[in-house]
Amino acid sequence: MVAEKLTKSAWQSAPKRGLIAVVILLALPVFGLLTAFGVSTDTQLENVPRSEVVQVLAIPAFETEETDDEEFHASERILRGDTVATLLQRLNVNDAEAFKFLRTEPAAKNIFQLRPGRNLQAITDADGELQKLRYLHSPDQFLEIVRQENSFTAQELVLEPVRQTAQRSGVIKSSLYGATDEAGIPDAIANQIARVFSTDIDFHVDLRKGDSFSVIYEMLYFEGEYMRPGRVLSAEFINNGKKFEAFLFTDASGAESYFTATGTNRAKSFLRSPLEFSRVSSGFGGRMHPIMKNWRAHTGVDFAAPRGTPVWATADGTVDFVGVKGGYGNVVEVRHSNSVSTLYAHLSAFAQGVRAGTRVSQGQTLAFVGATGWATGPHLHYEFKIANVHQDPMKVALPKADPILPQYRAAFLESAQTQLSQLALVRDANFGRFE
Ligand SMILES: [Zn+2]
Repeated sequence: MVAEKLTKSAWQSAPKRGLIAVVILLALPVFGLLTAFGVSTDTQLENVPRSEVVQVLAIPAFETEETDDEEFHASERILRGDTVATLLQRLNVNDAEAFKFLRTEPAAKNIFQLRPGRNLQAITDADGELQKLRYLHSPDQFLEIVRQENSFTAQELVLEPVRQTAQRSGVIKSSLYGATDEAGIPDAIANQIARVFSTDIDFHVDLRKGDSFSVIYEMLYFEGEYMRPGRVLSAEFINNGKKFEAFLFTDASGAESYFTATGTNRAKSFLRSPLEFSRVSSGFGGRMHPIMKNWRAHTGVDFAAPRGTPVWATADGTVDFVGVKGGYGNVVEVRHSNSVSTLYAHLSAFAQGVRAGTRVSQGQTLAFVGATGWATGPHLHYEFKIANVHQDPMKVALPKADPILPQYRAAFLESAQTQLSQLALVRDANFGRFE
């Protein structure tokens, strides 16, 4: 196992809790992955089945290789207009050899792709001689330059974040994002909540004042620094008095799906709305309201939406047709299992890579709202057919999805029960805030 333990709170300006991270050499994938998890504050979540190999490591002290020499640690945020030379200067690196290495070593080329806001870290000796340099150039990867005897090595390393959990709850007053903002929930998590429950709730139109939710999700840290939100692990949403739950389950093959407390797969049935829900498209009973025409004559449902709004595949399937079809204008048709097909019309543009024969997954963007064909203004015309017979998608009993596989059922139900009580605790703990 070529994995290096990097533990130094010395990299940071202020000491943080003892989180540790493990980095893996990209060039040596045969050694496999080692994932380190932080010690969760919520011990019950340790029961959530995970596919990763979990190794809980003790909280070590900063290990220095050269105890005789003094080391200087510096960290700099890249600003607009920075060059590698100005950054090295700010990091107190005074090392012509190191700079020459960076310029000539192909494996170090990423150092010259400076992105404002990203971080550069250096360890130098008292003379400014570079010992180690790191450039965290992407969310999951960084470049590391290390001094060897009389030369340097450059490696791209994968950044394995430490996962901690956060628990929040909220009550809808005016919009989902209003509530998630108030609860301090990142947008990426709000979007996941909307997506996870979108087989039951059309967030464009179904939200009611007083609806509430609780969510447990991951926060990813690297060396004590918060990086970004991870996945929603479990959530409950009470919409118009009706309670929905979702629990993430990872099976032995690594496949992840959200299930209800009784083991029904949430993701595999159809989304209630073919329009993406996002901060931009959200509104309380707003612009996305379906215009219910006499669909028997009309054969579909029209959704008023601004031009350019992303149109989602409402379920997994295969694209059957992409192109122009008379009064429909630009159309995408998707074939799903159980003889179901869906059609999306009047589109302004198609998403990249969407063509006949393409496999698409639920929630994948197919195209964008427009007014091509016989349309008086931008809207989405959406059709839902079973065995080529038009159905009202707002009323049809949607095909049931595969429940959790029998071999996972017992483990899942047990973990779901634990998470249910956890969610209830989150809800109760926060309830007072909204009274
Ligand atoms: Zn229509």
